[in-house]
Amino acid sequence: MRSKKDLSEIESQLLARKQELEAEIQQLYQEKSDDGQVQDPGDQAMSAIFESLKNSLQNNELEEYRMINQALEQIKKGAYGICVECSELISSKRLESYPNAARCVVCQEAFEEKNKKLDW
Ligand SMILES: [Zn+2]
Repeated sequence: MRSKKDLSEIESQLLARKQELEAEIQQLYQEKSDDGQVQDPGDQAMSAIFESLKNSLQNNELEEYRMINQALEQIKKGAYGICVECSELISSKRLESYPNAARCVVCQEAFEEKNKKLDW
């Protein structure tokens, strides 16, 4: 089992990264809109900001932000870091690179293999 301590460490890392991204995104938004009214946007305001920045934001920043939010949701639900296919714990190392990994390495490889075939 993953310990509570590990999990809360992961959670605080994710939250820190989320704040960093939000700050970056807000700054970009303020540069774009002269009024500079965005001070403390809630989640709803953040999605409005995303909408208006969609084209100027780097795709991977948006992706990362979504990924982090998903991972935080999973932590809340107590389902974080558990493979959706085989219910085994996903290794911490894998989670470091892919915080919202839904599958363990073995299942992910099988999944990608399957998708590859579907693409043909
Ligand atoms: Zn698995």
